[in-house]
Amino acid sequence: MEVILLLGAPGSGKGTIAQQLTQRNPSMRHVSTGDLLREAVALGTPAGREAEPIMKRGELVSDKLIGDMIRDFLKKGDPSASYLLDGFPRNKAQAERLDAILCECNVPLRAAVLLDVPEAILLDRITGRRVCPVCKTIFHIQTRPPKTDGICDVCCAKLIQRPDDQPETVRHRLAIYRDATADLIKIYSDRSLLLTLNGDGAPSEIAEAFLKLLA
Ligand code: AMP
Repeated sequence: MEVILLLGAPGSGKGTIAQQLTQRNPSMRHVSTGDLLREAVALGTPAGREAEPIMKRGELVSDKLIGDMIRDFLKKGDPSASYLLDGFPRNKAQAERLDAILCECNVPLRAAVLLDVPEAILLDRITGRRVCPVCKTIFHIQTRPPKTDGICDVCCAKLIQRPDDQPETVRHRLAIYRDATADLIKIYSDRSLLLTLNGDGAPSEIAEAFLKLLA
């Protein structure tokens, strides 16, 4: 087992690139902390109940809650997998927590890959995003509209906008991201683990560039 960090702002395409990577490389698995938390909210677990109001406000859940979730996940993980960790760490304290978790689980950190995308593009991508609450397919009102307005092409459910994808909440999330990421960039570049990729382009090309960078 090894861990590769996916760093990048909300909307930088981490999920899309991870999907491309896992299709190309079967040992790679995508772990999104946002997805783990949304699943916990949907299931109504104690962690989910604690996280729900915080996520609705676009704020970060506590380092303890998310750290425990990642540790439990890795402890049950597949020893032959390369985990693409998306959404954690998000600040210096979480980076320190991750080091402790990886040490406890005896898992190496292979690289931290930063997907770099201009902020105007990020705002547009996120506020136009619509998701299917049933099958999780993601649409965009301009770049990937559903065939029928507001309805999922795959399962016909009514599409929703995630509460934390509203414009005001997104601006807040981007501001939190900016403040915290500067620290992470320094931490991983000081350890020669940081790889930077231009994230404004075709997902398949970005995924290829990603794999070349890691090779
Ligand atoms: P995401 O899908 O990565 O944009 O995450 C959605 C929400 O989940 C964030 O706005 C936070 O409220 C919460 N979240 C995800 N990852 C973390 C993390 N590492 N630390 C704290 N909160 C997180």
